[in-house]
Amino acid sequence: MIQKSNSIVEINLSQLKQNLRTLRSYLDEDTRVMSVVKADAYGHGSVEVAGTLEPMVDAFAVNDIHEGIELRKQDITKPILVFEVPQKTTASQYRVHNLTATVSAKEHFDWLPNGTSYHLNFDTGMGRLGFDPEEAERVLTLVEENQNLFCTGLYSHFATADSPGSDFVTEQHRLFTNIRRQFPKELSAHIANTGATAFYSNEQYDMVRLGIGLYGYAPGKTGIDGISPILEWKSKLVQIKPINAQSTVSYGATWQAPAAGNLGVIPVGYDDGLKRSLSEELTVCIDGKIYPLVGTVTMNYCMVFLGDNQYKPETPVKLLYAKNNARDWASKINTIPYEILTSINPKIPREYIL
Ligand SMILES: *Cc1c(COP(=O)(O)O)cnc(C)c1O
Repeated sequence: MIQKSNSIVEINLSQLKQNLRTLRSYLDEDTRVMSVVKADAYGHGSVEVAGTLEPMVDAFAVNDIHEGIELRKQDITKPILVFEVPQKTTASQYRVHNLTATVSAKEHFDWLPNGTSYHLNFDTGMGRLGFDPEEAERVLTLVEENQNLFCTGLYSHFATADSPGSDFVTEQHRLFTNIRRQFPKELSAHIANTGATAFYSNEQYDMVRLGIGLYGYAPGKTGIDGISPILEWKSKLVQIKPINAQSTVSYGATWQAPAAGNLGVIPVGYDDGLKRSLSEELTVCIDGKIYPLVGTVTMNYCMVFLGDNQYKPETPVKLLYAKNNARDWASKINTIPYEILTSINPKIPREYIL
């Protein structure tokens, strides 16, 4: 992969561990933790994140089987659950790499080769993957009929656990408890994500699946005390030039300088993950001062109005940082921190602070 060299993403691994310790304080002592590192650990780099967390967690989860293979190649040895629907073309790889598959429909029993381990997925209300709760008895029969495969757990996923007090969570919990009762006790059972862990009690079963909270964000509007973001995105000014009052900047000529001043050019655009819809919505930090991005964000550049201030090329620019984090960005364009974080182009180098 060709790396981009115009910005860097800095990730604080000690804060990552701190976030995990904070989230553990919501758990019963014997509840196990599965760390969700799908989507390249929400843009943070799955190999480094998993390597850092491995001594402190019990298992990992990824979406795509190739993400699991990558972790195995990088010497991650704890169990790895793959969420995605097994595909005939890659089904043999679960066993080869000791990955746990997800079985969420009847045909998956036929696609997985002998000796594959799997967890069952039930759809208790998410409306995505999984068996219908009413099928539980039939699914148990299928498990018993398919002794060539090893069922090691069952799970489900909440649709509304990102905020406290949802009746829908209670209902999904009730359905999952019913399912759980029909399966052997030795099987692992898990349903809670970050939101369910922080905002609900009695949802833990024997394991929780923590994603966004590890990266320092609460899933919805309600905050979680004691966690903070671990990622900063930094670039630099590549050109600074004087502009006249009323000069326009960027495509569409939508922004006009209110007065004469200096324009700075930052080599980060929507190809890097700085969403075009954030045009004229963001500020950046240069030398401790806050300046507005002006004009339309382009594919490889965005512009900042510096007023009377003058800077040299190569002056550092902070784009995404504690006081202007993925939640702040997300709130301006009606999305969630998850989408902002996973939009940062993986070709941008990640630097890790211990
Ligand atoms: C992404 C995901 C999680 C983690 O959710 P967070 O809100 O990030 O904690 C857990 N379980 C499943 C099935 C997921 O897809």
